[in-house]
Amino acid sequence: MVGKNGKIVLNIIRKTTGIQWARKEIDIYFLKDSHSKSWVGGFSDPITIFIEKQGSTNKKKIIKNLSALKTVVIHELIHQNIYGIPLGDSENYIHKLKNRFKCDRICAIHIIVHAVLKEVFLKLKMEKELKADIKRCKNHKSYSCAWDIVEKIGYKKVVKEFKENLDL
Ligand SMILES: [Zn+2]
Repeated sequence: MVGKNGKIVLNIIRKTTGIQWARKEIDIYFLKDSHSKSWVGGFSDPITIFIEKQGSTNKKKIIKNLSALKTVVIHELIHQNIYGIPLGDSENYIHKLKNRFKCDRICAIHIIVHAVLKEVFLKLKMEKELKADIKRCKNHKSYSCAWDIVEKIGYKKVVKEFKENLDL
C-alpha cells in the first residue's frame, strides 16, 4: 500500500483504533502459493498475502479479484496496527471477550478486527467489499461467529469498548 490511497487507509485505521503505527514502514510480502493454514488469505506479521495468477485452477484460491485483495490487506493491516500496543493489553481484552461470548480465541480476536474493518470500510465507501467479507466468512465457524457478534452489538460499540479497555 503505497501512495495517497495507502496513506488514507493507514490514517483511517489509526484513527479508528486510536493506536499509533509502531513502525514507519510496513512491508507487505506477496506469495504465489497459498498456505493451507491461512483461511483469510494471508498472515499479519510480517504481512504476507497469498495471491495466485488469474485463471489458476487451484480450488483453494482465496483472492479472486482486486476487491478481495484489498480486503485481505486491510484485514492484516488491522492486526498489525493492534500489535502496536503492549501484548498484555490486547490479550486482556481478548480474554474478556472470550468469557463474555463463550467463543474461541480466533472469534474473540476477530470481534475486534471485524468491528474495526467495518468502520474502516464504511469510511472508505467499501460497502460492497464489506458485504462480500461477511458472506465469505459464513464458511468459517470462528470468523462468522465474530461477524454475528459485531452485527449484534454494533461495530461502534465494540470499537469504543476496545479503546476504553486499552485506556489509550
Ligand atoms: Zn485475522
